[in-house]
Amino acid sequence: MTKYGRSPWLDAFPTSRVPAYPRHRGDMQTEAVVVGGGLTGCTTAYAFAAAGLKVLLLEADQIGRGATAYSSGWIAEEPGVAFADLEKAVGLRGARYAWQVWRRAALDFISLLRRLDIKCHLEERGSAIVAATTEQAARLKRDQKARREAGFDVSMMNPLAIKTDLGLDASAAIRSKHGATLDPYRACVGLAAAAADRGAVLSERSPVRKITFNRKIATVMTANGRIRTRRVVVATGMPTPLFKALARHFWFHTTYAVQTEPVPAKIRQQIGFGRPARASRSTDVVRDSAQPPHIIRWIDDDRILITGADSEAIAPRLRDKVIVQRTGQLMYELSTLYPEISGIRPDYGWAADYARTAEGLPYLGPHRNYPHHLFAFGDSSRSVTGAYVASRVLLRHHSGELDRGDDVFGFHR
Ligand SMILES: Cc1cc2nc3c(=O)[nH]c(=O)nc-3n(C[C@H](O)[C@H](O)[C@H](O)COP(=O)(O)OP(=O)(O)OC[C@H]3O[C@@H](n4cnc5c(N)ncnc54)[C@H](O)[C@@H]3O)c2cc1C
Repeated sequence: MTKYGRSPWLDAFPTSRVPAYPRHRGDMQTEAVVVGGGLTGCTTAYAFAAAGLKVLLLEADQIGRGATAYSSGWIAEEPGVAFADLEKAVGLRGARYAWQVWRRAALDFISLLRRLDIKCHLEERGSAIVAATTEQAARLKRDQKARREAGFDVSMMNPLAIKTDLGLDASAAIRSKHGATLDPYRACVGLAAAAADRGAVLSERSPVRKITFNRKIATVMTANGRIRTRRVVVATGMPTPLFKALARHFWFHTTYAVQTEPVPAKIRQQIGFGRPARASRSTDVVRDSAQPPHIIRWIDDDRILITGADSEAIAPRLRDKVIVQRTGQLMYELSTLYPEISGIRPDYGWAADYARTAEGLPYLGPHRNYPHHLFAFGDSSRSVTGAYVASRVLLRHHSGELDRGDDVFGFHR
């Protein structure tokens, strides 16, 4: 039976090892409060604590059970928007800076997870953006040209290499060497534990109800206490009712994901891509150039995970029905890319909500109407790299050591 609306990462995690942090109680004072215990909040709490700051993280529910647990677990080295489109939206300097920040972040995120020895099935993997249609090929060529003109190396794959390495019939692809796949829930609870080791205080089941501020200080209120602080980092993924006024900066969407049952070895061999026996596993995440794109990766070397089929944000009452419909759609779309998998069944089908900005880059930083606040909203990069990017940019904002290019992530870029 297909499990709908559930996260395979959560299901695979032993219940006895699910971390438990106490509810927040009482009045206190701290240097920084992080609101939201997803991958962004936990990575940021770790970065702040590692920089020697006194930090408190407040999670409304439990650590890592928001969008994080419903992502595909890909550390990509690109921000998920075509370079040519980004250049048009924010200019050459901004696009180039965003690209460099993302690439650096992917590499640093991988080394951080290794250094902290976080057991999250981290595996370094390259990726490829493929063009399956003539129109997609034209877009990819345009992007290749824009990247080259901006001074980036672009490694293209020809149809033969695409067929051999990825098992796909496509006319062009851009290959990226760096990146990784992981279990996003394990990464998140690991980073939460690492933040706690560095002295961060974590509280679960402690939704922030209200935040007030004056010129000097902000006060964060939960049901059982209040925290006075100089800094509030809002890492809830998108504006919650606490920040309704900021919703106008975003479009709200839902994306879908499917994990298949194990694919028999014979079919895996026919497909080629991700084949465990292959000597060089250079390209194991495939992203097509459809709009919205599909991301395809292997899990445990024998199951396929595909995301895509995005829609406008769906109403809660329709959610169950739409997830079933989109699971079928994604399986069909997967079979058009890989006809060999026809007949393979979906084990899981689920949805995740997100907010997207006009330019496709997240907003990371302050907003003039909210003194003492820093926000991390609107990552639509389809990879978890944005969580690490946010932690670095927000720490730079907090310590007043901004890089000149960081304004490309600002609300008023
Ligand atoms: C369109 C899209 C596609 C994506 N696709 C992929 C993909 O294919 N692969 C991939 O690896 N990643 C993907 N991601 C990225 C991934 O989902 C996230 O970037 C990453 O997991 C970080 O999540 P987060 O911490 O920002 O949000 P979340 O994990 O949602 O964390 C936010 C937390 O804030 C808490 N919260 C909310 N309100 C309050 C409150 N008032 N008080 C306290 N806590 C509160 C919530 O309970 C939640 O735990 C995608 C993202 C988007 C937008």
